[in-house]
Amino acid sequence: MKQTGLKGYVDWNGEMWLADSEEKDGFSSIWKVKQVLHKEQSEFQEVSVIETVGFGRALVLDGIIQTTERDAYIYNEMITHVPLATHPQPKTVCIIGGGDCGAAREVVKYPTVERVDMVEIDPKVVEVSRKYLPAVAGEGEPDPRIRFVYDDGAAFIRAHKDEYDVIIVDSSDPVGPAAVLFEEPFYRDVYAALKPDGLMVCQSESPVFYPHILKRVRDTLQSMYPVVRTYLATVPTYPGGIWSFTLASKQADPLQTQPDRLRDQDTKYVNRDIFRSCFVLPNDVRKIVQTG
Ligand code: SAM
Repeated sequence: MKQTGLKGYVDWNGEMWLADSEEKDGFSSIWKVKQVLHKEQSEFQEVSVIETVGFGRALVLDGIIQTTERDAYIYNEMITHVPLATHPQPKTVCIIGGGDCGAAREVVKYPTVERVDMVEIDPKVVEVSRKYLPAVAGEGEPDPRIRFVYDDGAAFIRAHKDEYDVIIVDSSDPVGPAAVLFEEPFYRDVYAALKPDGLMVCQSESPVFYPHILKRVRDTLQSMYPVVRTYLATVPTYPGGIWSFTLASKQADPLQTQPDRLRDQDTKYVNRDIFRSCFVLPNDVRKIVQTG
C-alpha cells in the first residue's frame, strides 16, 4: 500500500482506495475509489468528492466519508422528519452544519415551515455538494425559504434568542471545527435560541464506537430539557452501521405524538412505524444513555 498525497487515500496494487482516516478500536472502513471528482483544501478542511464503486458519489471531509448517494436519505430523513413530525407546528428552523444540503431539502417538504437558516461554517462544502451531489443536495435552485449563512454555528446560535421552533445540529464528528458543537456552552445557547415550545435534535454519533460521546450529549441535554429521547437508524456508510440521534424538547414528547404528518410525506425511509419504533433501544444502548 502506498500513500497518494491525498488525506486517507492509498494506492493498493494500482487501485485507489480511501481508508477512512479515523481509525476506531483498530477498525477502519476502506472504499474503492473509481475516480476523484474534486479535491481542494478549504479554509477549514480538505473537501473532496469521489465516485465509489457501489455507493455512488461521496462527500469526503478531511479523509472521512460524510455522506454517499446510496444511503444519504436514511440519515437526512431521520435527522429531520422525526423532530418535524414531533413539533406541533414548525415554522422557523435552524440547521447547524448540514453543508451537503440533504437535511435542508427534507425540512422544506413541510408546508408550515416559513424559514430555514442553514448555518454552515464552510461555503466550499455547500458549493461542491450542489455541483457534484445533486442526488443529495437537490437539483436546481434551492427552495427560497432556505437562507444560507456561512458562519460558525456556535457563534451564530449564541446571537439568537427565542427564535426557532426546531434546531437541527447536523455536524461532522467532534474534531476540528465541529468540536464546539458537542460542548455544553453550545447546548445552552441552543436552548436559549429555541422558543418556549421548541425542540432540538443532534446526531449523537455511533453507540458502538463512541458510547462516551453519546452519553455526554445525552447527560448534558438531560440537565436542561424535560424531554430527552435517543433514537437509532442503520446507515451502512457510517462505521458500525448503527447511528444515534438525540432529540431534546421543552414540551412535545415524540413518545406521546401521533406522527400523522408523515402520512403525506414523500420519504424513502421514514414512515409512521419507523417514527414509533426508532425510540426502542436495545439493552446495550439503554445502558449507555441511563443517567448517572
Ligand atoms: N451527515 C454527516 C455526518 O454525520 O457525518 C454530516 C453532515 S455535514 C457534511 C457536516 C457539516 O458540518 C460539514 O459540512 C462541516 O463543514 C460543518 N461544520 C463543522 N463544524 C461546524 C461549525 N462549527 N459550524 C457550522 N458548521 C460546521
